Amino acid sequence: MKAIVVHAHGGPEVLGIVEKPTPEPGIGEVLIDVAAAGVNYIDVYHRSGLYPVETPFTPGLEGAGTVAAVGDEVTEFAVGDAVAWSQVPGSYASQLVAPASSLVRVPDDVPPTTAAASLLQGLTALILSSQTYEISGGDVVVVHAGAGGVGMLLIQLAKLRGARVITTVSTEAKAELARQVGADEVIGYDGFADQVAKLTDGDKAHVVYDGVGAATFDGSLRSLRPRGLLVLFGQASGPVPPMDPQVLAQHGSLYLTRPTAGHYLATPERMRHMAQELFGIVTSSSLSIRVGGEYELEHATVAHKDLQARRTTGKLLLMP
Ligand code: NDP
Repeated sequence: MKAIVVHAHGGPEVLGIVEKPTPEPGIGEVLIDVAAAGVNYIDVYHRSGLYPVETPFTPGLEGAGTVAAVGDEVTEFAVGDAVAWSQVPGSYASQLVAPASSLVRVPDDVPPTTAAASLLQGLTALILSSQTYEISGGDVVVVHAGAGGVGMLLIQLAKLRGARVITTVSTEAKAELARQVGADEVIGYDGFADQVAKLTDGDKAHVVYDGVGAATFDGSLRSLRPRGLLVLFGQASGPVPPMDPQVLAQHGSLYLTRPTAGHYLATPERMRHMAQELFGIVTSSSLSIRVGGEYELEHATVAHKDLQARRTTGKLLLMP
């Protein structure tokens, strides 16, 4: 089997490919032939060392494929089953051993590329829009990076819930994509808080979804109406520096949360229930999944370079 291995934290160039013996599934584990591995921004944080991971390690948390062998005591999956996962470390590989409890069954009408492209970012967007904050009709919602993987899904889910969506993007091509998935107003990052205020006649947003972090955090606070909620869910531009909680009072008794999808998917039952809901929305065609780039596994370096250079849209996949 082939796998990407990081021997020391660093830039995209540390993503090297190696040949390894095929692993054996242990008790409660499943061996999977990986059809597609999802690339997510968290893989960049793991690779760079922003989030601590012991080296050497194989990056990637997400993918879809076919069960190739099952270990002892696995009763819920059999060889040939189509499965997907969003929280299994080591997914940048042609084969993977995963705990059966971390897998979801992929419905027959969902191709493996769609499953790999939708699970992690889709579950995140579903959680952010229905649990972290339950968007309701008429809410004004700001979504940063509206042509990105999570961004495009969040816009669509917010629109399904009846919100007015204002989104930020960095280029006109990205603006067009954000409009295609339903954003009501698409703006640039420069002075975005003033633009949100202007577009809403000074009322501002009920909720801001910010996965950009350092570069947008202050503007996100200024985009909120009194008692609004800032959902800081990532830091593509870098981590937000420490802040004085008094700032929340100054901007109007604001709420701030820093959610991680894993905490909302803490049990296999919860994860499978939400994955079923997500696949239901995907197969009903209410959610369009855009794969913005497919890369051969050995080109993981290129995928990370493109993602960090803001050249990508939608979902990126590695194809072993
Ligand atoms: P994206 O596809 O959204 O890529 C990141 C985007 O961020 C870029 O395309 C770019 O869009 C924007 N961006 C703004 N400033 C920068 C910068 N300085 N460097 C790089 N990108 C920048 O990635 P994902 O959909 O995978 O992830 C989006 C965010 O969601 C990330 O912060 C990620 O960590 C977070 N996340 C959090 C989860 C959680 O559980 N909390 C789960 C999944 C993702 P533009 O050019 O339009 O500005």
